[in-house]
Amino acid sequence: MTSATQTLGPEGPLAEALDNFQPRPEQQEMAAAVEDALANQGTLVAEAGTGTGKTFAYLVPVLQSERKVLVSTGTRNLQDQLYHRDLPLLRRALGADFRTALLKGRANYLCIHRLERAVYQERELSGEQRADLARIREWAGHTTHGDRAEVTSLAEDAAIWPRVTSTSDNCLGTECEHYDDCFLIQARRRAQEADVVVVNHYLFCADLNLKSEGVGELLPKADAVVFDEAHQLPEAASRFFGTGISSYGLRELARDSRDEFAQEAGDDPQLPEAAHALERAAGDWRRALGEGDWRGAWKPVLEQPAPRQAFDALRAAADRLQNVLEIHAERGKGLARCFDRAKDLNERLNFLYDADDPDFVFWMETRGRGAFVHATPLEVAGPFQRATGGAKGQAWVFTSATLAVGESFTHFCARLGLPGDVATRKWESPFHFDEQARLYHPPRLPDPGNPAYTDRLLDAALPVVAASPGGAFFLFTSHRALRQAAHRLRREGRFPLLVQGDAPRDHLIHQFRSKGNAVLLGTGSFWEGVDVRGAALSVVVIDKLPFPSPADPVIEARDRYLKEKGLEPFPHEHLPTAVLTLKQGAGRLIRDASDAGVLIIGDPRLTRKTYGKTFLASLPPMPRTYDLNEVKRFLGQETPDEAPAPTPQSNYREEDSGGAGEGQGTLL
Ligand code: SF4
Repeated sequence: MTSATQTLGPEGPLAEALDNFQPRPEQQEMAAAVEDALANQGTLVAEAGTGTGKTFAYLVPVLQSERKVLVSTGTRNLQDQLYHRDLPLLRRALGADFRTALLKGRANYLCIHRLERAVYQERELSGEQRADLARIREWAGHTTHGDRAEVTSLAEDAAIWPRVTSTSDNCLGTECEHYDDCFLIQARRRAQEADVVVVNHYLFCADLNLKSEGVGELLPKADAVVFDEAHQLPEAASRFFGTGISSYGLRELARDSRDEFAQEAGDDPQLPEAAHALERAAGDWRRALGEGDWRGAWKPVLEQPAPRQAFDALRAAADRLQNVLEIHAERGKGLARCFDRAKDLNERLNFLYDADDPDFVFWMETRGRGAFVHATPLEVAGPFQRATGGAKGQAWVFTSATLAVGESFTHFCARLGLPGDVATRKWESPFHFDEQARLYHPPRLPDPGNPAYTDRLLDAALPVVAASPGGAFFLFTSHRALRQAAHRLRREGRFPLLVQGDAPRDHLIHQFRSKGNAVLLGTGSFWEGVDVRGAALSVVVIDKLPFPSPADPVIEARDRYLKEKGLEPFPHEHLPTAVLTLKQGAGRLIRDASDAGVLIIGDPRLTRKTYGKTFLASLPPMPRTYDLNEVKRFLGQETPDEAPAPTPQSNYREEDSGGAGEGQGTLL
């Protein structure tokens, strides 16, 4: 049989069938390692730098293995890309006959039962929601798969979607009269029959969670699981091994109970009253938590009189609704489901009220009109290993461009509880970073805690943006710094400006690409998963080393937990997390072999602190400079009249530059 290496080689079918296919040694090596893991039911942790071609490096051996394989990705976009683009391409190139299926979380599929209900209750909807509902009804008439990604004319976060999609709480399951035509059930059936099923980490973890609770499963059994964007897996697992409540969920249960009761022509006034009381209690609870968006530890909040009273009232209202629902549960499937949900809600409320399970951190947040309480597991390694059965009898491949800190995979493996002797491999990006990129570390920026820091960073970065042939990403570690930068850049009006929060993320990225010379300001989600090729993205500015905030309740609790285990949080958690985040951010710059650009890292700790070496060792090997003129020359802008960069000031200590002083125009 042809090996994956041969398939991906210069004489292989891909080179023959695909115009732009370039055989790459890194890709072939990775494919051989994946092939080996599949054949031996082994576990492989593989970091593949940008441009390695890791997607084909795992898909080719997966397809040639003739085994049933789940491929799990970090995002729905990547799922769509794999299913609609990469797999059909390989099917054609390999001339192979394999069945594939795409399976997303249930919120992605139209629920016929809920659509009918939304139509029945149309009068309750706003004008905008009614217009959106009309579009969904029109689409529902001809869709084959009921995947809401098909409705490109509706925003992903349109308020109508929760009304016409299901949750595990409100789905009627086998009791549903639309069960046989249900889009979700059909997608699951296709997944059962397929050779390769493309899922996402959230769905995978939801499935693990259900299995570990012994209440069913969402995914088919497979011989192997490949996780792409595996660095996102611990976070997804942490979400699904935790629990919580939200004021939205409470209101939804109240509304569904009332609606189901009305549909069953119920005449007991107790039920609408109990539902209304729960809705009111949810609103009172949100108000008792004060205005604005914030997050913090849950227990201290529960000790304050007003939030405590509001939470007590909430529990009483939820308890009463459960009792009334129990009386009417036999009237219909919908009411029976509401009763189950109320029972589950009360269990969660009690768990959060006690907040004494030592394996969890209890925290809360408010966002707009919503209030949320979460119980997040302090570590996911144990639950993940228990739920996966230690990966026995299956092959596991974890891959991403950012798994290693320097050469070490210890941090990633420890988070998922993978054994210390698991096979790990790392392939550097084949791009020529020495020719394609520069790392500019502006001299004499103040300490990142200095109030003038963001302004000084802009002073240093904007000349580079002005000299570049395209646009720039500014990646911030805080919303405050982002707002400060946005305020100044709006006032100055020098560049087309796109700011996170002004429009949905995908829309901003689309605009960024089409403008070609825009400046985009973003935090969190813009640090990864953004792929802008060509001159449109010529500069990436990172404001600070992205250490997690020690004041965050989850970080704080986890720090305590690590200390109790005798581990220092900084080297074990904060530093590796920040290094991997920085790698993600830096990875936005060079996306293909013809890209060129400048990475600007402002934070002076990169070279002043000893740990800066760990960051530098993990970045792609791009030459580092402190000299603006050097950067401009690199960007193709001649600077004959410019004065040389000033010499360093005495308050700037250079510890890690290998002896070269800053501002001397030296490429380090
Ligand atoms: S089975 Fe569940 S998801 Fe499917 S149509 Fe019925 S209620 Fe909706």
